[in-house]
Amino acid sequence: MATIFSKIIAGEIPSYKVAEDDRFYAFLDINPLAKGHTLVVPKREVDYIFDLTDEELAAMQVFAKRVALAIRQAFPCKKVGQAVIGLEVPHAHIHLIPIQKESDMIFSNPKLKLTDEEFRSVAAAIQSAWAAQHA
Ligand code: AMP
Repeated sequence: MATIFSKIIAGEIPSYKVAEDDRFYAFLDINPLAKGHTLVVPKREVDYIFDLTDEELAAMQVFAKRVALAIRQAFPCKKVGQAVIGLEVPHAHIHLIPIQKESDMIFSNPKLKLTDEEFRSVAAAIQSAWAAQHA
């Protein structure tokens, strides 16, 4: 059965997309730790990130780097932190989170509650930074 992220990539379930290429897809985490919290996923459905091929993992990291640049441009922050957990959704993904301090990366912190309009505007800001990068 397809994972929820495969359904998102296929457009069967809505998402707040921020970037995409032929192999990877980036969209906002629905329970964000910060405005701009983004997930990067490979379109090929693989559960555990370290089961990706070396080449796929390297390409995913380069894609995530570009997304992180766009996030930081849209949401100025000290750094964009990266984490991999993957205990909830069995489809490899990298979390990218704008942070000011170490504790901003704690996953048990309360999540932001954003409206649909707020999610759209966060996604649009990152999308336009992404588009400017690729112009
Ligand atoms: P984990 O597998 O532990 O890395 O956590 C999965 C992450 O995916 C969580 O942060 C969820 O909020 C996020 N998530 C789950 N379903 C969706 C969805 N439909 N759209 C966006 N983010 C999601």
